[in-house]
Order: sequence, then C-alpha cells, then structure tokens
Amino acid sequence: MDADTRTLMEACCLCPRECGVNRFVETGYCGGGAAARVNLHRLHFWEEPVISGTGGSGTIFFSHCTMVCAYCQNHRISQEGRGTERSVPELAAMMLELQEAGAHNVNLVTASQFTPQAAEAIRLAHARGLRVPVLWNSNAYEKPETLRMLEGLVDVYLPDFRYIDSNAAEQYSDAPGYPDIAKAAILEMHRQVGHLALSNDIAQKGLIIRILVLPGLHNRCAPYSGGSKTPWEQRPGSASWASITRSTAPLNSRRSTGPSRRKNTRRASHIWTSSASRTTLSRKWGPVPITRRNSHDHEIEHI
Ligand code: SF4
Repeated sequence: MDADTRTLMEACCLCPRECGVNRFVETGYCGGGAAARVNLHRLHFWEEPVISGTGGSGTIFFSHCTMVCAYCQNHRISQEGRGTERSVPELAAMMLELQEAGAHNVNLVTASQFTPQAAEAIRLAHARGLRVPVLWNSNAYEKPETLRMLEGLVDVYLPDFRYIDSNAAEQYSDAPGYPDIAKAAILEMHRQVGHLALSNDIAQKGLIIRILVLPGLHNRCAPYSGGSKTPWEQRPGSASWASITRSTAPLNSRRSTGPSRRKNTRRASHIWTSSASRTTLSRKWGPVPITRRNSHDHEIEHI
C-alpha cells in the first residue's frame, strides 16, 4: 500500500457516505478495512456479449459494498463481506493470472470501497505485462474525485444506473441522493473514456450503462420514463450503450437464484434486454424495441 492510499484509508471519504473513519482501526458504512478483500476471481461467461465474448471476462469480485440493496444477488459477498484480504501485489497477480487464462478483460466488480488499492494494483499489473482492457463494474454511487484516481487505468466503465427516484433509492438501497450522485459519476466516467469502442466485437474502451429493472418498480428505477421525463440534464451522447437487466435476487429466493439473466441476452445495435426484462417493461410500455439504432424516439437517446 503506497503512502497516498494509506492517507486515504486513515480518514476514508472515498464514497458519498464520507464516513471519515480510520480504516486501519475501524470500519465505516461499507464494512471494508484498509486492505482490499476479494471473494473470488475467475473467468465469467455471463456478462454482456461484448464483455464476455467467447473467452470469458476476468472477474475479480471484491467484498463489501457502499450500497445495501435489499435485492442484491451477491449479498454474502457485498453485505456479509465474505472474502480474503489481498495485498496490492496479490491483486495484480490475479489480473495477470486471468489474462493468462484467456480473459478478454479484467473486470473489477464492486471495488469502489477499495478504489486506491485497485488503482495501485492496475498500475503494478500494467508494469508486469497486463495488456487486456480493465473494466470498472460498479453501482455508480461514487464521487467523481474518487473516480479520477482511475483515469488512464480503467478502459471500460460498466456502471449501474439503478434509480431515478430518491425515495426508492433510500427505501431499497439506503442510498440518499442516488440519482444525482450516479449521474455525476457516470458523466465523469464518460469524460474519461468516451463512447464504446469495439475490436472483434469485444469492448476495448468506453462506457456501458446497466439499467437495472426491478420487478414492479420499473418507473422508479430505470430511466425508461419516456421523452420529457428523462433524468439526464446532460447526455453522454446518442452513441452511448445500455444494457437492461434484471439480475436481482428476491429476498425469499436468493439461494436458488440462478446465473445472471444476461446470459440470455442477444446482441442488438445499442441495447440489450433479457427476455425477463422485456416482459416486465412491456407490461407498461408495450413491446420493447431492441434493435433500433439512434432512433430519436427511443429512450436510449436520453441516456
Ligand atoms: S468507502 Fe466505506 S468507509 Fe469509505 S466513505 Fe464509503 S462507506 Fe465510508
């Protein structure tokens, strides 16, 4: 751990919670200590097609989380903090191991509470031969100034955009101010990496926004409110990509929930939806288009 990371850990204000705790001696809201904690690292074949490809995405699942979503499908990792403490060199070694195993990318899942440690590890891995793109897979409840630590290190941002309704964000994730905080975070991500660029159908650089659709809450969660109700004051641009998913676990069926529905998605021009998401959305808006490119009346234009 370098001196800058140590200083940040001594009075942690990395995320919007701004606990101010010394993570060497206590934990803040997220539960994370000073050292990064990882539950598992492995090839993952059920992300979006441009992420998983055929070789898989090299995921590293970090323990703890800055949000506490009632529907979290990884709650044992995010809320119970299951995992093992890993040093920066160990994190870098995982990245290189995943590259060696054939991963199209290194995919850092929910690492916001360990942003400085992750940045250090990416730098070290680059110095030791990491060449595949690095993905930042987050809930977007992040501060732009913290994200700036990743500038030049992360190639593809993969943020969720979960709520347009602050009350819903507080009720289901205890995340006050989520809509505005996530918008600012996503705009910072887009400033860093721009629109999505592919090579051989695999993401190399850019931004993909995951729009989470919660059953029964689609009008409070997804920016699928139609035309004039768009939540965005600024647009990253009409070439932004979105992935609509319902990868959530109801409280009473967490243990039996299968793999992410993203496995069932298919490539469209700018948007993916799972069959489950289309069913949910179509109850409100009718058939959901999935292959329209730059259509001026399609919600994707407002992302
Ligand atoms: S990262 Fe954790 S300890 Fe730091 S401000 Fe956020 S919730 Fe608090």
